[in-house]
Amino acid sequence: MSRIAYVNGRYLLFREAKVHVEDRGYQFADAVYEVCEVRGGRLIDERRHLERLKRSLTEIRIAMPVTPRALGVVLREVVARNRIGYGFVYLQIGRGVARRDPAFPAPEVAPSLVVTARSLSRTKNEALAEKGIGVVSVPDNRWGRVDIKTVGLLPNVLARQAAIDQGARDAWFVDKDGFVTEAASSNAWIVTANGNLVTRQADHAILRGITRMVAFEVIKARGVSVEERDFALEEAYAAREAFVTSATQIVLPVVSIDGHVIGDGKPGPVARMLRLEFHRYVGAE
Ligand code: PMP
Repeated sequence: MSRIAYVNGRYLLFREAKVHVEDRGYQFADAVYEVCEVRGGRLIDERRHLERLKRSLTEIRIAMPVTPRALGVVLREVVARNRIGYGFVYLQIGRGVARRDPAFPAPEVAPSLVVTARSLSRTKNEALAEKGIGVVSVPDNRWGRVDIKTVGLLPNVLARQAAIDQGARDAWFVDKDGFVTEAASSNAWIVTANGNLVTRQADHAILRGITRMVAFEVIKARGVSVEERDFALEEAYAAREAFVTSATQIVLPVVSIDGHVIGDGKPGPVARMLRLEFHRYVGAE
């Protein structure tokens, strides 16, 4: 079976799917994106992802190229045509194709829309979650509006690679005051030494993860309390548990930070509970 991608109105063979050399997403990272988990062939949290997409587009003043309903149809069609049971769908909307000039094209050009999908290995993901991952901290040198989900991800790319170069799996960004912001492609959480569940407040220094948002609801439904506040790297080193949340990993335990073993070096009970409850909750919604 051939992979299929959707590019500006057409379903194309993946290897033939191309964008223009003067696509502003390509030249200026003038584009936003979303990644949505697919499970049992269904999109998880589609409504919330499309709401965040709308917000990102509004913040950078790009018009929605198709109606949300039509976009939903395209997303599901790409998932179906690629026969994704478990995996993710990726969508990117850019300001379109125009002669290279930082200012918005005048007259306006049509925004571009690309959708791809890929299968993931559930076995591999489960094995990773069973073991937990090691992370390293890196200075957060990103721009001041990472709450907008733009494709400008160079600092994230370099952070992830720095982690891999040091034998870790992921990186946690730390702001100039020593507080953890988030991970390279997920939100960061800890259970403090005295048992409080903490994640950073949703300011402009983190992406408002959809998984983070749903995790709050799961946590509330279980009667557990959670603090949205700054936490320093030192507090994370001393934590009982740490984990990250994202659409493709859901809840992934972190068992070491900069070589400091977290808890007993194994995934903790809060992370395990959340991972287990997450899909039960989303499925029942
Ligand atoms: N932070 C960053 C920097 C990310 O790239 C992601 C994943 N897109 C997240 C957090 C988690 O967001 P979500 O739960 O919506 O996948």
